[in-house]
Amino acid sequence: MIGSFTFENLPCRVVFGSGTLASAKAEVERLGGTRALVLTTPQQEAQGKSLGAALGALYAGLFSEATMHTPVDVTERALAAMKAWDADCVVSLGGGSTTGLGKALALRTGINQLCIPTTYAGSEMTPIVGQTENGLKTTVRDAAILPETVIYDVDLTLTLPASLAATSGINAIAHAVEALYARDANPVTSLMAEEGIRALARALPAIAAKADDREARTEALYGAWLCGVCLGTVGMALHHKLCHTLGGTFDLPHAETHTIVLPHALAYNALAVPDAMARISRAIGAADASHGLFELAKRLGAKTALRDVGMPENGIEKAADLAVTNAYWNPRPLDRNAIRDLIARAWAGEPPGAVEPAA
Ligand code: NAD
Repeated sequence: MIGSFTFENLPCRVVFGSGTLASAKAEVERLGGTRALVLTTPQQEAQGKSLGAALGALYAGLFSEATMHTPVDVTERALAAMKAWDADCVVSLGGGSTTGLGKALALRTGINQLCIPTTYAGSEMTPIVGQTENGLKTTVRDAAILPETVIYDVDLTLTLPASLAATSGINAIAHAVEALYARDANPVTSLMAEEGIRALARALPAIAAKADDREARTEALYGAWLCGVCLGTVGMALHHKLCHTLGGTFDLPHAETHTIVLPHALAYNALAVPDAMARISRAIGAADASHGLFELAKRLGAKTALRDVGMPENGIEKAADLAVTNAYWNPRPLDRNAIRDLIARAWAGEPPGAVEPAA
C-alpha cells in the first residue's frame, strides 16, 4: 500500500555511456565555463592531463592533490590554484576523494562542477561533503555542493582493479540498503534502490571473473548511479553512522569498511524492516539479505574482518560508545550492547549474528 510521502528530485544532468568523456568540452561549455580547473588524485594525474588537452582552450590547469576525507588544507591549496589560474568551473575526474575536493570548492565559491566519477562511491549524486581538519571529520549539506553535471563513462572504470570494484560496489549497495528503510523512504527512491542493488549484485561477480567484461562494468556503473541517487535523496542510518565513526576514529579505508560492516548493520535492523529485507533478498537472489551480502563479499574476495583493515581490538568498546553518543534515527532503537556485539563480530570476520528481537 502506498502512503503519503515527500520526494525531492535533485537537479543534476547525467550523461551515461561508453566514450562519453568525449563530451566533456561540450558539457563545460553548456555550463557556461570558459576556464576549467581539472582535479585528480596524484594516481590519476596522467588522466587529468589528457582530459586537459581534450578541453583545449577551456583548460585552465590541473590540481592533482585530491586526498581521501577532503582535508581542509588541501582544499585551501586548490582554492589558491583556482584563483591563480582564474578558473570559473571545476572538472573533477576520479573517485569520491576527487569529487569531494570539487564539492569543497563549490561550497566555498559557488563554482559550477562537472564531475566524472571513476569509482562507484556515489558522492557525485549528493549535496553532501565530509571535510577533515585537525583529525575531525564534519559533514556539510548544502544545495551548492551538488555537481551540476555528471558524465559517467564506463571506459574509465575498466582500470578500476577488480578488488576495488568489489568494495566500491558494495559501498554503493550500502546506500541503497539504507534507503529502503530510511525514515523518509518513498516509493520512487525505493525503486531505484532495489534496481541499483540488483544491478550491482549481478555485475560484481562477473567483473571478479573477468575484469574487462564491458557489459558487467556498464551494469555496475548504472547501479552505482542509482545507489548514489538514493544516498543524495533520503537519510541514512546505523550502517553509515558506524562506518563514519569507524573510518574517522581508526583511519580505516572507506569502501572496505562499508563492505565489512554492511551485513552486520543490516542483521541488527532486520526484524524492524521486513519489507526492506524482502526487497534486498529479491535483488541479490538470496534467502536472507544480511547473510547473502556477507556471502557476496566473500565470493568477491573482499575482506570481511575489521581487524584485517587496521582496527585494533581494544577499539571495539570505544566504537560502541561513539556509535550511541549522538542520537540519530534508526529503524531499531540504538542498544549499546547489541551494537558492541555487532562491531565485535565485524572485527573478527564472523558471519552476521542471529537477529535479536528489537529492544
Ligand atoms: P578514492 O576516490 O579515494 O579512490 C581510491 C583510489 O583509487 C585513488 O587512488 C584513486 O585515484 C583510484 N582510482 C579511482 N578510480 C580509479 C580507476 N577507475 N582506475 C584506477 N584507479 C582509480 O575512493 P572512493 O571510495 O571512490 O571515495 C572515498 C571518499 O569519498 C571518502 O573520502 C568518502 O568519505 C567519500 N564519499 C563521500 C560521499 C558523499 O556523499 N559526500 C559519498 C561516498 C564517498
